[in-house]
Amino acid sequence: MNMPVPPKVIRAGAKRNELAERLSRDVQGEVLFDRGDRGRYSTDASIYQVDPIGVLVPRTFEDVRAAVDICGELQAPFVARGAGTSQCGQTVGQTVVLDHSKYLNRIVDFDAAAMTVTVEPGIVLDQLNAWLRPHGLWFPVDVSTSAQCTLGGMAGNNSCGSRSIVYGNMVHNVLGVDVLLADGTEGHFGQLEHMTADGSRIGQIVQRLREIAAREHDEIARTVPKVLRRVGGYNLDIFNPQSVRPYTADGHVNLAHLLVGSEGTLAITRRLTLKLSPLPEHKVLGVISFPSLYRALDTAQHIVKLGPEAVELVDRTMIDLAHDNPAFGPVIDRALTGDPRALLRVEFAGSGRDTQLRKLDQLVELMGDLGLPDTVVRMTDAADQKALWGVRKAALNIMMSMRGDGKPVSFIEDCAVPLEHLAEYASRLTDVFQKYGTSGTWYAHASVGTLHVRPILDMRTGGAELMRSIAQEASALVQEYKGAYSGEHGDGLSRSEWISWQFGPSLTKAFEEIKALFDPKGLMNPGKIVRSPKMDDTTLFRFKPSYQVLPFEPALDWSAWNVTQDPARQKVGAPGSGSDPTKGFSKAVEMCNNNGHCRKFDAGTMCPSYRVTRDERHLTRGRANTLRLALSGQMGPDAFTSEEVRESLDLCVGCKGCKRECPTGVDMAKMKVEFLYQWHKEHKMSLKDRLIASMPKWAPWAARFPSFFNARDRVPGAAWLSEKFLGFSARRSLPRWRHDTFLSQAPHDHVDDADVVLFADTFNNYLDSENARSALKVLQAAGYRVHVARADASDPARDRPLCCGRTYLSVGLVDQAREEARRVIQALRPFVARGVPIVGLEPSCLLSLRDEFLVMGLGDDAKALAHQSFLFEEFLAREHKAGRLNLPLKALPQKRALLHGHCHQKAFDAVRPVQTVLGLIPDLDVSLIESSCCGMAGSFGYDAGHFDISMKMAELSLLPAVRQAGPDDLIVADGTSCRHQIADGAGRQAEHVAHVLERALA
Ligand SMILES: Cc1cc2nc3c(=O)[nH]c(=O)nc-3n(C[C@H](O)[C@H](O)[C@H](O)COP(=O)(O)OP(=O)(O)OC[C@H]3O[C@@H](n4cnc5c(N)ncnc54)[C@H](O)[C@@H]3O)c2cc1C
Ligand code: SF4
Ligand code: SF4
Repeated sequence: MNMPVPPKVIRAGAKRNELAERLSRDVQGEVLFDRGDRGRYSTDASIYQVDPIGVLVPRTFEDVRAAVDICGELQAPFVARGAGTSQCGQTVGQTVVLDHSKYLNRIVDFDAAAMTVTVEPGIVLDQLNAWLRPHGLWFPVDVSTSAQCTLGGMAGNNSCGSRSIVYGNMVHNVLGVDVLLADGTEGHFGQLEHMTADGSRIGQIVQRLREIAAREHDEIARTVPKVLRRVGGYNLDIFNPQSVRPYTADGHVNLAHLLVGSEGTLAITRRLTLKLSPLPEHKVLGVISFPSLYRALDTAQHIVKLGPEAVELVDRTMIDLAHDNPAFGPVIDRALTGDPRALLRVEFAGSGRDTQLRKLDQLVELMGDLGLPDTVVRMTDAADQKALWGVRKAALNIMMSMRGDGKPVSFIEDCAVPLEHLAEYASRLTDVFQKYGTSGTWYAHASVGTLHVRPILDMRTGGAELMRSIAQEASALVQEYKGAYSGEHGDGLSRSEWISWQFGPSLTKAFEEIKALFDPKGLMNPGKIVRSPKMDDTTLFRFKPSYQVLPFEPALDWSAWNVTQDPARQKVGAPGSGSDPTKGFSKAVEMCNNNGHCRKFDAGTMCPSYRVTRDERHLTRGRANTLRLALSGQMGPDAFTSEEVRESLDLCVGCKGCKRECPTGVDMAKMKVEFLYQWHKEHKMSLKDRLIASMPKWAPWAARFPSFFNARDRVPGAAWLSEKFLGFSARRSLPRWRHDTFLSQAPHDHVDDADVVLFADTFNNYLDSENARSALKVLQAAGYRVHVARADASDPARDRPLCCGRTYLSVGLVDQAREEARRVIQALRPFVARGVPIVGLEPSCLLSLRDEFLVMGLGDDAKALAHQSFLFEEFLAREHKAGRLNLPLKALPQKRALLHGHCHQKAFDAVRPVQTVLGLIPDLDVSLIESSCCGMAGSFGYDAGHFDISMKMAELSLLPAVRQAGPDDLIVADGTSCRHQIADGAGRQAEHVAHVLERALA
């Protein structure tokens, strides 16, 4: 193998200031050159990390042009970036990063008849496909990251979807590219016959490309792998096609295809013209359970003969990890028969439902013939298919949810071998892993022989050496089976070094000539594809051998992440068995592998602040990166409690969307509590935060003198003053206090033989007391003996109502929250001991009994309480399911209910129970509003500095949906702050489900 040449060393620091100045002067876009911003753009979904010179988020193409000119003048390298989800370090480098994803994402032209669309590079695939759906068309390169990856990035990497056996890769679906070259030349690359080899800059390139291709004609035939999935190097074989699938239907040469897969090293894509396909009318799915991985892979070659659209492998590790994930567990369980070691998910699609069903029959028959009868689960329902597809799409991320320092590492991730060798290749690779004391996690696009496999390595200790040894043995296998070393994820930093190995010296030289032709000064994404560094250069690693975290004592219990790990057996040790000096906090932060799933915009909650700002800083990933860099001293000493970190967490509304939806379980809401605790050790707390936190303590006074406490919204100028001196937004009314609190009127008796305990939180006791009253009436009407929870007689603060501590947690006062939690545990202990369910109304309050109570060092009592704590609707739905609910209900005047789920309900899969119990009301049609966070998020929306962002979050989907509701429609929302936001933003009064049920009591 040729020794790779290290990339040119660029003196970034010296140029940084000048570049920042010039850019700030000459462009309209966002110039982000500070330490935190650079840190957030220093990684992608690879193992690499390099501090970039700076970042520009261009608003217009003119900005891009200006930036390229300035970089050219100052000799500064630059890289175009989309969502930054590349796995091989394609976007990592000492460059000026041009983030195209925020503004350059329009659809420029669409021709339905010709089935073509022209887009800007920053558009996200799912958004493009959502736009195309009404036209019956789609762009079929359906990569797993479709919810966040951009078309520019997909073209850059020559991405491949799961259905590539039918539709091919990006290179098969791009018709033309408008480009900007490093020297400022603009032009179009498309069909060769329409491009003149004149004296212009582009013409000269065309002419020279022809010459190189003619010279290398035989070498191309000799060295380029003849598989569909080959994405390494430049696609010089467009002149002498080697792909098993022709690049163009009629055999013409399209020069856009040379730019596809060039990883931003040759040109910046300004616009892409894409070939579209008709949406398949019908899809059916067969899920086959196999007794071994080998058997599954070996069977793929027979299945493809039935003409499936996709054949995808899921291995045992992933089945187990998916099973443990709250979002994926039930879905994967439905797809299994017996106790399989691997699954193949086989999809048939096309016109004629009967035709597709017949293919499914053939699959069942085939499995019987192959000695595996009764192993196919038929999935013909679209919702089931979509849910299982979701698991497959999240497969890699699920794998990455493995705790401990060793992680499945991507470097031989997508070798592609001819199908008949797939099982043997996997088997021999398993032996290689064993030889090096590790094991692999597998999933595959089995239909096209691309095997995603990641050996588990700890990059901090010995990972680099193991990586090279395994890569060398894997490459020898790939060569023996005449496969492709890079079958999907491209070259970047981890595979560029292997180009000369795969393509030989002659083509490697040709690639260097091509690079020099387009980019003579080597400014575009240097070190990728040609003249690359070594894949195992540890100075480029995110977790370098020198990586260390600065010790601190966390307030919450993070021991679940502080574990040892046995990579060979894929087992993790007991909580707390690791040696993390932050007792697991930094390990929890490091769970973010940068895959970018939090950049999604589809259903679900995560991440509301990103959804409105589209800033990397206000994204779960951006926050996790900021914390990681700060914790490991890479943002300077004491950075963890710095203003930079505080700012990156400022717009995190603590919705827990990431807790459920981040495939690796990054729980930023909890991390923010920990951060605020540490922050307040060093920084004074504002009066506003102190007021919010201690609300449960002063609420009794507010109930005694409500007119005084409500004066702020009555007395002219008071709201203004509260904004000026306290920071409460004058544009919002505050919640109204009242005399008739629930607990002042509810029964005081200790109901020893209670069937259920009603826990009235601060909000539903003092502010929306009617909800607690309704809940009590409904429970009693259903025949339950209800005990209303009150402080224990031995509690020193027994006259004060119980409180879950949520308001303290929201500002990081963990010690005070713990005290409140202790009071709750003490008061409820006798009921918990008897197994009595504890029922609450406010999602964020009640669910903290199941969440934060468990990480405040409160022992087994907290676990027992968590086990028995239910939201009101969860309790009723459970009783209904068990056939025990006897609730007499009549129809309401309203016939339709629109339901908005509180974020914490969504995080705990507790929205369905609301739908279930509302569904018990005769003649009521219940529809769920597909909404993210309402934007109020406890006290977040009351803050003057957060008001606008809070309203923008609400305007994303919640408020428009509420405004469209008819005047007679019910709006149901269980969260106090959600109801307030709906009232403020849409002038509608939303109701708690308890209140609705009470009105429906017969
Ligand atoms: C969990 C996970 C699953 C994945 N699954 C798949 C899969 O199924 N199939 C697959 O093929 N890949 C997959 N990938 C890899 C990656 O998501 C895809 O390659 C994706 O298309 C990259 O898009 P992006 O917007 O993130 O691009 P980026 O990572 O931002 O950029 C990719 C490359 O394109 C270049 N680029 C971006 N914009 C421009 C532009 N305007 N002009 C010129 N060059 C540009 C960049 O310089 C870079 O070299 C996966 C990654 C992850 C983390
Ligand atoms: S926070 Fe979660 S979803 Fe976002 S990039 Fe990190 S791992 Fe992926
Ligand atoms: S808690 Fe919500 S706002 Fe905060 S990072 Fe997670 S998804 Fe985003």
